[in-house]
Amino acid sequence: MIQIVNGAQLTVKRERSMGTARERQVVRDIIGQVQNDGDAALYRFTERFDGADLSTFTVQEDEFAQAMQQVESDFIQALEEAGKRIRAFHERQRQNSWLMQEETGTQLGQLIQPLERVGVYVPGGRAAYPSTVLMNVIPAQVAGVKEIALVTPPQADGTIAPTVLVAAKQLGISTIHKVGGAQAIAALAYGTETISPVDKIVGPGNIFVALAKEHVYGQVDIDSFAGPSEVVIIADDSAKAKFVAADLLSQAEHDPMAAAILITPSTELAEQVAKEVNRQLKKLPREEIAKASLKDQGAIALVENLDQAARLANQLAPEHLELAVNDPWTWLPKIKNAGAVFLGHYSPETVGDYYAGPNHVLPTSGTARFFSPLGVDSFIKRTNVIAYSREDCLRDADHVITLAEAEGLRGHANSLRVRVEEEKGRESE
Ligand code: NAD
Repeated sequence: MIQIVNGAQLTVKRERSMGTARERQVVRDIIGQVQNDGDAALYRFTERFDGADLSTFTVQEDEFAQAMQQVESDFIQALEEAGKRIRAFHERQRQNSWLMQEETGTQLGQLIQPLERVGVYVPGGRAAYPSTVLMNVIPAQVAGVKEIALVTPPQADGTIAPTVLVAAKQLGISTIHKVGGAQAIAALAYGTETISPVDKIVGPGNIFVALAKEHVYGQVDIDSFAGPSEVVIIADDSAKAKFVAADLLSQAEHDPMAAAILITPSTELAEQVAKEVNRQLKKLPREEIAKASLKDQGAIALVENLDQAARLANQLAPEHLELAVNDPWTWLPKIKNAGAVFLGHYSPETVGDYYAGPNHVLPTSGTARFFSPLGVDSFIKRTNVIAYSREDCLRDADHVITLAEAEGLRGHANSLRVRVEEEKGRESE
C-alpha cells in the first residue's frame, strides 16, 4: 500500500493547485454576482450549492442555546482546555509598539495595532471543524481584533454543526453567517446588505474557497494559499512502528491529496511500518481516503543516515515534521523548513492539531521555505512613526536633498530646502 523507495529518488512536488479553468471561471462568476446582487446572491447560491432555503442566514441566539444542549459535556470540557492552552501560547506572541529616542530629540518607532475586522471561514461541506474556530479566532482575539465574523455553509436543513456553534459561543463570537464557498469569501471582501466587509479573511476550505481568497487578495488580506495537508516523519531505530504508522495514517485520512512520508535510515523500521500501515488501515472508517493518499502521495524513503534525512526534509519543507528519533533536540537545529516540528515519540501531530497550543494553520506545499504559521502577527499591522527634531532635519537636509535630486524629484528636495531657507532667514534676521 505504501511504497518503500530510495530517498534519493523521492520526488519533491511543490506546485500549488491553481484549480481548473472551469473552477476559476465559476469562482469569478460567483464573486461578480455577490458584488452586484449582495444578499440576494448569497441566498441563491446557498440554495444551489448547500440545498438550504433560508429566511435569514445569520445565526440566531436560540440556535446557540440549542447547540449547547446537543453536545456532550466532555466535548465542552476538552474544548475549554484546548482553548486555554491555545490562548496561553498565543499570548507569548504579542508584540508591543516601540519608540527610540535619539540624543538630538528625534523619535522613531513602530506602532502595533490590530486589524479592525476579520472574517473566519469555517468549512462545513463534508465535516464539522470546531478546531478551525479555535485556531483562527484565538490569535485574532489575542491581537486585539474587536470584530470577528464567522462564515460557514449550512446543511441542507439550514442548520450548522452544534460543535462549531458551541466553539464560537465559547469564544464570545456572536456573528455567524450561514454562507459558504466563494460566495462567503466575496461577501466578506466586498460586503453585502447584511455582511460588513472585513480587512482580512482566514480559514481553510475547498478549491472554490481557496480560489476565491486568491481572487480577493489585495482588496483584503488573506492568511495563506492552503494546499493539501502533509506530514514528514524522520524516524530511527528507537521509533515504534505502531506509532509511526498511526501518525502517517492520521495525515492520510484527511484527503486523497494529503501526503504522508516516512524518512528513515532503518530498513527494518521501514518494513515494519509498511506492514503496520496495512494492518491499521483496515480499521479506519476513512480507509478509502487514506489508501488513495498513501498510494499517490505517500512513501517510505530509505536514506543513509539522519543527516541525509534532515536534508531531504528541508527540501520537502513539510507542513508538519515529526522527529521520532532518539535525541530529537540535537536534530532540531538542522531543520530549516517546516511549519511545525514535533519532537520525540510522544508528540504526535494530532496533539498539535487540537490541543498543545501552537497554531495548526501552517504553510503547506513547500511554502514553509518562506511562510510561517498563523499567529498573533497575522492579525496586527505596523505603522512607522517618524518625529524629526528641527536640529536633525537641518543637519540631514543636504543628504536628503542629494538623494531626492538623484531620483529627479525636485519637489521632494524642495520640502527640505524651504525649511533650510526659512532657517537661514531666521538666522539673518
Ligand atoms: P467547504 O466549506 O470548503 O466548501 C463547501 C462549499 O463549497 C459549499 O458551500 C459551496 O458553496 C461550495 N461548492 C461546492 N461545490 C461547488 C461547485 N460545484 N461550484 C461552486 N461552489 C461549490 O467544505 P468542503 O468542501 O468539505 O471542504 C473543506 C476543505 O477544508 C477540505 O479540503 C478539508 O481538507 C479542508 N480543511 C482544512 C483544514 C486545515 O486546517 N488545513 C481544516 C479543516 C478543513
